[in-house]
Amino acid sequence: MTDEQWGELQHNLQKTIGKNTYASWIEPLEFGKIENGVAVFHAPTSFLGNYVKQNYGDQILYQMMGLGLNVSRVQFVVPAQAPNRTSNEASKPGEAELMNGARSGSREALIAAAPLDQKFTFDSFVVGKPNELAHAAAKRVAEGGPVTFNPLFLYGGVGLGKTHLMHAVAWELRETRPDLNVIYLSAEQFMYRFVQALRERKMMDFKELFRSVDVLMVDDVQFIAGKDSTQEEFFHTFNALVDQNKQIIISADRAPGEIKDLEDRIKSRLQCGLVVDLHPTDYELRLGILQSKVEVQKAQYPGLEIDSGVLEFLAHRISTNVRVLEGGLTRLFAFASLVGRPITMELAQDCLADVLRASERKITVEEIQRKVSEHYNIRLSDMVGPKRLRTYARPRQIAMYLCKQLTSRSLPEIGRHFGGRDHTTVMYGVRKIEDLRTKDGQIAEDVEILRRMLEA
Ligand code: ADP
Ligand code: MG
Repeated sequence: MTDEQWGELQHNLQKTIGKNTYASWIEPLEFGKIENGVAVFHAPTSFLGNYVKQNYGDQILYQMMGLGLNVSRVQFVVPAQAPNRTSNEASKPGEAELMNGARSGSREALIAAAPLDQKFTFDSFVVGKPNELAHAAAKRVAEGGPVTFNPLFLYGGVGLGKTHLMHAVAWELRETRPDLNVIYLSAEQFMYRFVQALRERKMMDFKELFRSVDVLMVDDVQFIAGKDSTQEEFFHTFNALVDQNKQIIISADRAPGEIKDLEDRIKSRLQCGLVVDLHPTDYELRLGILQSKVEVQKAQYPGLEIDSGVLEFLAHRISTNVRVLEGGLTRLFAFASLVGRPITMELAQDCLADVLRASERKITVEEIQRKVSEHYNIRLSDMVGPKRLRTYARPRQIAMYLCKQLTSRSLPEIGRHFGGRDHTTVMYGVRKIEDLRTKDGQIAEDVEILRRMLEA
């Protein structure tokens, strides 16, 4: 690329991304060379290089193509300056990209070690009842205003969106408040850095590094339970930041009080701020997530049809873990495109048989009968007995309906559990409730409540 072309590229970029962004991110770059279709730029730090690549890489590539240059990839390299690098990272020339100059233990190294997932933004986070509080709290922190609760402690089971929310906060702050020093890392990485600092006798640097952060996010903090010296250091870092009124976000797979082998003083400090949990997903949220993710898949496999009802089926049948749900959908699209068939219910059942089996809820007929009779305040013996009064018949039909919906029992099997009734009776009952659900608000509500209780 000639100087002239580089000048034109800079000019175009300034126009498309705005003066300020340009000054912060593009101006510090220097053009290196184009080799084998790869355009190499020099960045002053790997953080900057990383950031530009993630956020403006496509833009730069696109503009270069527009200038008629033969490029297919852009690369940001920190020109090597430290000849006595001790770490063995980035020793192969091709991998030197973004790594050179990132002293172990530097802020750049920290950021490079815990890159943010581009997909984990607020835009792609679907909000529902089970996660609305966590989402609202994360949003508040992402505004970067005065610290109102410290720390924000997010907890919940695997795959419910803790990491997604933390990354979303980091993305938003990096965008709107580039002046803030925002660090995201897992508790495991925290420990790793700590041990490394001890080994290399660089504890001063380590302390200084963490104490100069404006927003610190530590993911999966349950990991440091039982690791005494790491806990100790974490506690000091934590206190130092809280004292300086710096925002901290912590995640864990359970509530602070329930993390075993975590020192009491740490538990109590973690509870000082705002503790919110991500509840297991419910059907509506799962469906919402699928609907949003299906758009991504459709864009990737244009022309692939998906039958209506398939998403509802998956939302019903796949467990509360969103990662599994997402994986199922990805697999389904890949499979359908491979075999060149539209995505039907049948294909979904075939392709995801293992996932479906694994997350099959083992709800029993007995459980359903028990819950339903409790709910309607009738005796279990009357539920399965011969009485035909509406007071008994209706709950009985609701129980039959739920058995059909929530277990894999056949109609004759269900009939047998209801005092040896015929399968046609069961079918009649199931149809009756299907029909009533659409006409009778009270029944619809009862069924919904019971389903939730049983699935919980
Ligand atoms: P955790 O850290 O709680 O184990 P993650 O944040 O890694 O869970 O989420 C697992 C996967 O599910 C990620 O791909 C994430 O994008 C997705 N996910 C979780 N919750 C949501 C949500 N509410 N909306 C969209 N995607 C979600
Ligand atoms: Mg996580």
